[in-house]
Amino acid sequence: MKIAILSRNKELYSTRRLVEAAKDRGHEVRVFDHTKLYMVNESGEANLYYGNEKVEGYDAVIPRIGASVTFYGAAIIRQFEVQKIFCTVKSVALRDKLRSLQIMSREALGIPKTAFAKHPNDIPHLIRTVGGAPLIIKVLEGTQGLGVVLAETQKAAKSVIEAFMGMNTNILVQEFIKEAGGADIRAFVVDGKVVGAMKRQGKEGEFRSNLHRGGTSSSIKLKRAETAAAIKAAKSMGLSIAGVDMLQSDRGPLILEVNSSPGLEGIEKSTKKDIASEIIEYCERSAGVKAKLKDKVGV
Ligand code: ADP
Ligand code: MG
Repeated sequence: MKIAILSRNKELYSTRRLVEAAKDRGHEVRVFDHTKLYMVNESGEANLYYGNEKVEGYDAVIPRIGASVTFYGAAIIRQFEVQKIFCTVKSVALRDKLRSLQIMSREALGIPKTAFAKHPNDIPHLIRTVGGAPLIIKVLEGTQGLGVVLAETQKAAKSVIEAFMGMNTNILVQEFIKEAGGADIRAFVVDGKVVGAMKRQGKEGEFRSNLHRGGTSSSIKLKRAETAAAIKAAKSMGLSIAGVDMLQSDRGPLILEVNSSPGLEGIEKSTKKDIASEIIEYCERSAGVKAKLKDKVGV
């Protein structure tokens, strides 16, 4: 098969591992910086170019689209979809934190109670609905734990929310799940199955478990309810590859976010599993039949 990986940086662990796994399994693979791909549409034709080069002949596309380029990234994926090329992420599945929480709530999956408002008059409502302080305030577009604040008192909550609103930054306000103890769990879902899971523990005195904030990760065996929640969450977001982050609470797993480009480094290193090959095998199952036919007919 001919596989395209969309990634801004060839040197990233996840990108390197996917290239390696694809080559090991006998595929031709190429990494494209999707911000440098461009689209040309005319009646009956939707093409993609990389400089002077027409991008064509691919059987599968693995997008690794960071949070910052989702608009352009989604458009590029859509262009491949128009060409009827198999993509591991559907263009419609790229969403932000709030949109994923809305979908989780529709599916009756466990989530921390979350409130979202625009007007400063609603600040008291926001604080009250999530049960008062301590509470969590999150910037919608934040990643790696940056933009997540634990407000210990009502007063602190009010002024932090005011500050964000004053800067026109979209935030959500969330119930603080104390019993999670500064840890969360990440379930890596590929094609309706959990292929690896890890627990991330924040460093001493830190409520955020992000590895970028000094957290450490270890392999864990998920409880049945956690596995089921992760699979359902990925499915409801229309994601066949997803990193589902959950807090372990007294009322069961609570989903924080569903990542459409989950990193491979933490999960592969802590579980010692070859997740990259799981992704390539998924491409083979989904695009492989068509690719074989193409080879035979020679088109
Ligand atoms: P980011 O996208 O920046 O990683 P998250 O929503 O995943 O933002 O939050 C970062 C970390 O903060 C989580 O991994 C978790 O450890 C902690 N955290 C987030 N929300 C809550 C919450 N409602 N209660 C307790 N801890 C939380
Ligand atoms: Mg997170």
